[in-house]
Amino acid sequence: MTQGKVYDLVVLGAGPGGYVSAIRAAQSGLKAAIIEKEKVGGVCLNRGCIPSKALIKNAEIVSVIKKASEFGITYDHLKIDYSVAVKRSQEAVSRLTQGVEFLLKKHKVDLIMGRGIIRTPQSLTVESKTDQKEIQAQNIIIATGSRARSLPGIEIDGQLVMSSTEALLLTRLPENLLIVGGGAVGVEFAYIFSSYGVKVTLIEVESSLLPREDAEIGQTLGKAFSKQKIEVKTGCQLGALKEENGKVLAQLLSKDKEETKVFERVLVATGRTPNSENIGLDQIGVKTQKGFIQVGPFMQTSISNVYAIGDVAGKALLAHTAMAEGITAVEKILGKDPPPFDYLSIPNCVYCQPQVASMGYTEKSAVEKGYQVKIGMFPYRANGKAVAIGETDGFVKLVTDAETEELLGAHLIGIDASEHISEMVLARRLEATAGEIARTVHPHPTLSEAIMEASEDVFGKAIHIWKGN
Ligand code: FAD
Repeated sequence: MTQGKVYDLVVLGAGPGGYVSAIRAAQSGLKAAIIEKEKVGGVCLNRGCIPSKALIKNAEIVSVIKKASEFGITYDHLKIDYSVAVKRSQEAVSRLTQGVEFLLKKHKVDLIMGRGIIRTPQSLTVESKTDQKEIQAQNIIIATGSRARSLPGIEIDGQLVMSSTEALLLTRLPENLLIVGGGAVGVEFAYIFSSYGVKVTLIEVESSLLPREDAEIGQTLGKAFSKQKIEVKTGCQLGALKEENGKVLAQLLSKDKEETKVFERVLVATGRTPNSENIGLDQIGVKTQKGFIQVGPFMQTSISNVYAIGDVAGKALLAHTAMAEGITAVEKILGKDPPPFDYLSIPNCVYCQPQVASMGYTEKSAVEKGYQVKIGMFPYRANGKAVAIGETDGFVKLVTDAETEELLGAHLIGIDASEHISEMVLARRLEATAGEIARTVHPHPTLSEAIMEASEDVFGKAIHIWKGN
C-alpha cells in the first residue's frame, strides 16, 4: 500500500456536493483532495440533472413544433430523430464534466480516482485497479450520493425494465411506456417521451402527481398532462411484472380496479437509495437511518470531524442542496459561523412543461405547523406576457402568515417557473412580507408579474383579475 499525503479535507465522491465542497475548501486555503470511483460530476452531471434537461429542451422544441400552426407556421416534411437528442445530451454531459475536472485542477484539488473507504476518522484508503493507497485527513466530507431504488419484487434489468440511468440513453423509442412513480423524475420522463410520440402511462400511488408539492400543483399538472395525452393514473400501484414475447405485462392496481396491460418498456422512478454501504461507516461509528447518514444543522455526523452532504444525507435529494450543504460543511470546518442549514429556503423544481417550482411550506403544512395562513393566487391566463406567448397554463400560489404577512411558501406551475422561484427564496431569506413583494415593481410584460399580482391578491387587490361575482 502506498502512503499518501495528509490533507486538511478529503471529500469522498465527486458529484455536485463533493466537487463544490472541494473547490470552496481550496478557495479558502485548505489542502483538499477528492476521491471518485466512477466519473467526476456524479449523478447530476452524468445521469441526472444535465442529460435530462438536455432531453427536455428537445422535447420542448418538438412540443412547440406540434403547435406551430397556431402561430401560422406549417411544414410539409418533418423529420424527428430522437437519437440526436440523446447524442446532444451526452455532449452536454461531457462538456460539463470536463469543465469540473478543469476547475478541480486549477484550484489544486487532488483528484484521486478509485473507491474510497474510511478507515478511521482521520484516514481513508483508496482502491483502484492498480493500486491501494492510504491518505490522511483532518476532516472528511462524505458525498457518495444515491442510486435508483426499485420496488420490492421488481427487478430493474436495464432492458425491458429500466431505471432513469438506462432511460437517458435509450436511442430507439418504444411505442408505449409505463412509468412507475409520479415524482420529479417520473413526470420529467413522461414529458420527454410523450412529446416524442411515445404512448406514456404514468402511475402514482398517491392521490396526485408530485405528492410532496402543494395539492393544487399536482392536480393542475395531472390535468395538463392529460391534455398532452399522457395517461395519468393516480391512486394506482404496480402489482406484478411479467415478461412475455419481449414485452412486459404489468398489473396495475387501483382502489376499485385491477387491470393487466402490455408495455414495450417500463421505467421505474420510485426514489433513490443512499450509497452508504461499504464505505467504512460502521467501523468508525457514523450513525445512519434507513441508510441515510444522520447529520446535524452544519452537516456534522456523529463523529465531529466527519461530515455528510447531498443525497447520502437524505435531507432533500437535489443537486443544489448538495452544493449548499457542502459549503455549510466547509464553513464549519474553517471555524466560520455558518447559519444552520434552512431546508425551507431550498427551491424544488421540476422541468416538465408546465414547469413546477416551489419553496417553503405548502398550504397544508403551514396550517399543520399552526400558522393562520392567507393565500394569494394569480393564474398565468391573466398575465399579459403569458397570453402574448401562448403559455397560459398554471398559476402562482403564495402562502403567507396572516398575522405578520411573512412569506411562508411559494408554489408555481407554468412556463419558466424554475427561473422565477429564486425571487421567492430570496424574499423568504430576507423575511419579506407579501406587502413588500407586492410593492416591488416588476417589469411589464413579464411572467414575473404573476408573483407581484399573487402578492397583491393576498390583500384581495390583484389588478388584472376579477374575482367577484
Ligand atoms: P451524486 O451526484 O450521487 O455523486 C456521488 C458520487 O460519489 C458519484 O460520482 C459516485 O461515483 C461517488 N462515490 C460513491 N461511493 C464512492 C466511493 N466509495 N468512493 C469514491 N466515490 C464514490 N437534482 C436537481 O437539483 N435538479 C435536477 O434537475 C435533477 N434532475 C435529476 C434527474 C435524474 C434523472 C436524477 C436521477 C436525479 C436528478 N437530480 C436533480 C438529483 C441530483 O442528481 C442529485 O441530488 C445529486 O446528484 C446529488 O449529488 P451528490 O453530490 O450528493 O451525489
